Amino acid sequence: MKVVLQNLTKIFPSRNKKVKGEVVAVNDFTFEIPDGKLIGLLGPSGCGKSTTLYMISGLQKPTSGKIFFGDDDVTELSTENRGIGLVFQNYALYPHMTVKQNIMFPLQNLQGADKLSKAEMLERAETAAKLVQIDDLMDRKPSELSGGQQQRVAIARALVKMPRVLLLDEPLSNLDARLRLQTREEIRRIQKETGITTVFVTHDQEEAMSISDMIVVMKLGVVQQIGKPQDVYDDPTNLFVAKFLGTPPINVFNGRVKDGTVYIGEDAVVTGTDVSDREVIIGIRPEGFELDENGPLQCTLSNVEVMGRDVSIVSKNDASVNPVIRSIINSDHKIDTTVETVRYSVKLHKFFLFDKETEERIYFEVK
Ligand code: ADP
Ligand code: MG
Repeated sequence: MKVVLQNLTKIFPSRNKKVKGEVVAVNDFTFEIPDGKLIGLLGPSGCGKSTTLYMISGLQKPTSGKIFFGDDDVTELSTENRGIGLVFQNYALYPHMTVKQNIMFPLQNLQGADKLSKAEMLERAETAAKLVQIDDLMDRKPSELSGGQQQRVAIARALVKMPRVLLLDEPLSNLDARLRLQTREEIRRIQKETGITTVFVTHDQEEAMSISDMIVVMKLGVVQQIGKPQDVYDDPTNLFVAKFLGTPPINVFNGRVKDGTVYIGEDAVVTGTDVSDREVIIGIRPEGFELDENGPLQCTLSNVEVMGRDVSIVSKNDASVNPVIRSIINSDHKIDTTVETVRYSVKLHKFFLFDKETEERIYFEVK
């Protein structure tokens, strides 16, 4: 089931009567979510992810814009009639019910042609439980389950009605690191097996990048960029997106372009560009540096951190916006940790320029 968001906007009135002004939680969001894909909705806290999800679910009504499931306009349809499954950060299971009863619960209110017999409900619940691998826990109470198991019950409960669209709002945030990793792989597997179009909300870029077919990066209610995770990482549209994706984060420098040469401080890091003379912001991914004794970029060595496969070199440069620069170098390189300065050349496909004022990307070519 494809899901179409058309100029979706949500404005909340100001709560404080003295302060005028409203919150534009979601601003003119247009996107066609392809059938059967998992979309990661990504951005910092307060950027409008949950509001977008609640509008898709029908829990909140858009101020303007439309939502389609397939060709059906569902904008005015109630949550119950949209055919969605919802999973929240807090699993919200009924504590006095067993796992089985929790999973079957959404089926009990089905009316008319959708009404199911007890046996049918049981069968559906068992199928959903198998899918999330909790079928051996059916008679337990939620208090007798780990956090990861509880979240699986919540997912099974969302799947049992065979939803057309699955909506997950930070479903892994309450789990510890290991369970988070495991459960996100589970969600991906379940999503692929069922082929249900899924929207997965998270503020965690790594989580979004690792399980999504496509990511949508949001900031202050406005969509910044939509694309495959690797494409967005490789080709960020602005400084915000470049900074939001990647661990360690991108290294940011103040710089300038003069006669086609890009300078960090006095160091001519890239020459022969077609950019006109101007001040710029420079972004270099940690893997975009090459140790090079004749390299143009000179930095003061602070520390070398061994990470096994790679080595992380921590260094400093007056033009760096962050307190330190982090570069990731293959550990085959032997690094002399006693030297005071390191010299780098940069890989052009990991090197981005941004406008100093707008922070939009400046695309360039090198002669
Ligand atoms: P996210 O899920 O990305 O953290 P939200 O969608 O929850 O962000 O919130 C987006 C913005 O809308 C925030 O500024 C938030 O304070 C505001 N907001 C969310 N819900 C309400 C509401 N019911 N009333 C007023 N403002 C709200
Ligand atoms: Mg939220």
